[in-house]
Amino acid sequence: MHAVAFISQSALNHNLSLVKALAPKAKIVSIVKANAYGHQLDLIAPLIEGADMLGVSGLAEAAQLRKQTNAPILLLSGVYTDEELSCAIKLNCHIVIHSPSQIELINNTKQASNIWLKLDTGMHRLGLSKQEYQKCLPMFSTNPLVNIACVMSHFACADEPNHPTNKAQLDTFNALTDNSLARSMANSAAILSNTKATFEFVRPGIMLYGVSPFSPANTTPKLSPVMQLTAPILSVKTIPFGASVGYGGSWVADKKTTIAIIAIGYADGYPYHAKSGTPVLIGNTLCPLLGQVSMDFICVDVSHINPKIGSQATLWGTEKLAVETVAKYSDTIPWTLLSGVSSRVEFVQAI
Ligand SMILES: *Cc1c(COP(=O)(O)O)cnc(C)c1O
Repeated sequence: MHAVAFISQSALNHNLSLVKALAPKAKIVSIVKANAYGHQLDLIAPLIEGADMLGVSGLAEAAQLRKQTNAPILLLSGVYTDEELSCAIKLNCHIVIHSPSQIELINNTKQASNIWLKLDTGMHRLGLSKQEYQKCLPMFSTNPLVNIACVMSHFACADEPNHPTNKAQLDTFNALTDNSLARSMANSAAILSNTKATFEFVRPGIMLYGVSPFSPANTTPKLSPVMQLTAPILSVKTIPFGASVGYGGSWVADKKTTIAIIAIGYADGYPYHAKSGTPVLIGNTLCPLLGQVSMDFICVDVSHINPKIGSQATLWGTEKLAVETVAKYSDTIPWTLLSGVSSRVEFVQAI
């Protein structure tokens, strides 16, 4: 009687084929950082086998992923010491270079490396300035040990397709680069909304997991949710008018109410900030969450259905209940919900 997340292999295949249809000429870097956005690296074979490259954040993730594939791995955070650099090369990583200290590290090493130069085109997070880029480019181009595999940048506002920053960033990127080097700019939102940003490599993340980066999601072509998060009903009871439910008694019954206690809580990754009214799917019925989310449990109103103890509730990941909806009720984004599903949840491969 515990929470289970089903990871759909056919949904992974479907979402990957949608990326291919939207960017038919580009190579695909499946972004699988944070344990494949919480979906577990060992359960996402279609993304690993179907991609040209795989993107992770740090070396620990790269080392774990390397046990599963020989494909090149893109190390998005780059390396900071000679040891990390050797380790990255040994793991056959393509190393993102985003700061001047990394430029020196690469240029001084005696080992051959594949690098991706990351430009800051306006997000002002990681990335080289125009000056830093123009200074290192001739240096790397004449260093026989360094292969510049790609020049990349990242959008700050791609999930708002009409945001002026998108065009400004793309213009900056185009002004600084040309087709003599492979280029990469597009995350999921840009793949879905900006055909001019696909270039030679695309870097889809959230869409591979069947989730729209847009809000509202209705502009998105049909993605299939990959993770269905479920938990069993542990108890059903009827409470009278005026009775409160859960910690703090924040929800008070305005009539006689039948409630179900479900075996999932914030320690499993269900959002603590989910408001009363957040839908939970039981059978075919959306039932509203009542009161505070506990560490191990939530309570929902099941007055209109008569569920049995042991029957399964779905917290997100079906046609009727998208993770995007739960994110909205919790004042967060789907990325945090998916990557926050904890190791207490059992993960099961599904068709
Ligand atoms: C995480 C990440 C992506 C994927 O972003 P989504 O919005 O999930 O598609 C792409 N590029 C970089 C550099 C990233 O860090």
